[in-house]
Amino acid sequence: MRIYSILCFLLLSFVSNAQAPKSIQSNTSSKPKLIVGIVIDQMRWDYINQFKSHFTSQQGFMRFVNEGASCNNNFIPYVPTVTACGHAAVYTGSTPAIHGIAGNQWYDNYQQRTVYCVEDPTVVSVGVEGSSAGKMSPVNVWTTTLGDEIKLANNFKSKVFGISIKDRGAIIPAGHSADGAFWYDSKSGNFISSTYYGKSLPKWVTEFNGQHRVDSLYAKGWNLSLAKSVYEANCDGDVNAYESTPLGAEQKGFPYTLNQFIGKDYGKISSTPYGNSIVAEMAEKALVSEQLGKDDITDLLAISFSSPDYIGHSFGPNSWETLDGYIKLDAVIAQLFASLDQQVGKNNYTVFLTADHAVANIPDFSKKHKIPGGLISESGIKKELGQLLLKQGLSDRLISAINEYNIHFNHPLMDSLKVDQDDLVKIVRDYIEQKPGILQVIESREAAEAPLPAELRERIVNGYTPQRSGDLFIVTKSGYMDGYATGTNHGVFYNYDAHIPLLWYGNGIKKGQVNSVNYMTDIAPTVTTLLGIQMPSGAIGKPILEVLK
Ligand SMILES: [Zn+2]
Repeated sequence: MRIYSILCFLLLSFVSNAQAPKSIQSNTSSKPKLIVGIVIDQMRWDYINQFKSHFTSQQGFMRFVNEGASCNNNFIPYVPTVTACGHAAVYTGSTPAIHGIAGNQWYDNYQQRTVYCVEDPTVVSVGVEGSSAGKMSPVNVWTTTLGDEIKLANNFKSKVFGISIKDRGAIIPAGHSADGAFWYDSKSGNFISSTYYGKSLPKWVTEFNGQHRVDSLYAKGWNLSLAKSVYEANCDGDVNAYESTPLGAEQKGFPYTLNQFIGKDYGKISSTPYGNSIVAEMAEKALVSEQLGKDDITDLLAISFSSPDYIGHSFGPNSWETLDGYIKLDAVIAQLFASLDQQVGKNNYTVFLTADHAVANIPDFSKKHKIPGGLISESGIKKELGQLLLKQGLSDRLISAINEYNIHFNHPLMDSLKVDQDDLVKIVRDYIEQKPGILQVIESREAAEAPLPAELRERIVNGYTPQRSGDLFIVTKSGYMDGYATGTNHGVFYNYDAHIPLLWYGNGIKKGQVNSVNYMTDIAPTVTTLLGIQMPSGAIGKPILEVLK
């Protein structure tokens, strides 16, 4: 027994001695020097499983899957499931009820006008003269963000940047105290900013703009990455009447020529995979020029890829364009990983990848396959309700707005005409609920009592704020959406819109698959737990302990 103990002791000493230098080298005990947040605009959770056999690298999405952690049942816990709310939820760990970003735009009940999520009349554009494209800031976000808390934890020594094609995809993730947010200006083809962040663009952004990458990317055209047979076997047909034509009415399918846009149509890049390339190149430039992750003070780089949303809206999730877009995005992410390894060092950074929302099938695609779905029209409903109210001897101006399924009453007019709220609710509800595609219309303030499964009515409660939400909320049937004759949309609580990917990789991340249910609002609390810092002020999510070492 004694000999056995001595042997054990010797063996343990040998093992611990052998491990000691290794643990110093691998740097596993120290905190990440850089957090990289990647939001893919409109990515469905099921895309990786559907597309993974076509990815040309194991170092893009598959690096997360094979070497990191995958949360397979990650959901959006509020409505509307749209871009601004999604970016806000990821970086505040909260929902519209608390962070205030109630939509991409909302009707403000106090100001009685439509407000864009990141509009800010007190600032001006930087990097483009006399344009309103830069009159933007995060002032409409009511709580702190992940970047704010990272900075608060070290007396604002951290560097925090946001980069995206869309203004809201850069500004909201970067947060209030960010060093910079840069978004793409479709008029000039340059990345711009606002005086909220500083008087002029950093030198590296001006240098990047000087290359005018959009023109050289246009010159390449958009060709398929793989053989045509791959797309034929895995997608809907290339050309369908229910797809939109964002690259010109005459260009309905592959290959797409883009050189006709050189020198003029700079907005077109958003609807091609090159919108992702240009954002990743900007992110890599930020990494090097701002020396992100170079010291022990944790920095944050928030990258949002908007092009999958533009491509998805036009062509739908079953299209050649979507599959090819993701094959090319996979290569872009692999390149980003290579830059992070080189610049920051493997194991010195932590990356999460998620989406702001997912997307429905194109309604006519669904119909073709006998799957329920169709269109409703918010503007049509508003017009019809106006006529109905006139017929009843009331005013057609009693409905101020219908926006992202919220119906806003004109309260000053209701007061002056002495219209009873309950009477108006009954008229509107009875009219809308008999329309095809409508499940029910609920009173927003009473959403907690709505006759819906608890999980779903809670998502309506989580999306409600008196200043920026409607009096009534329209719940569509599955597959129905406010949209156009071609293309598709998102915004509701059904799983096609609300089930999104969540992948982790790097310092502090435990490799594995997580199948328990978690929520988009858990991302920020998980990162703050990893860093040992305070959660964003309004965070309601919980840290996902299964992904942390
Ligand atoms: Zn969208």
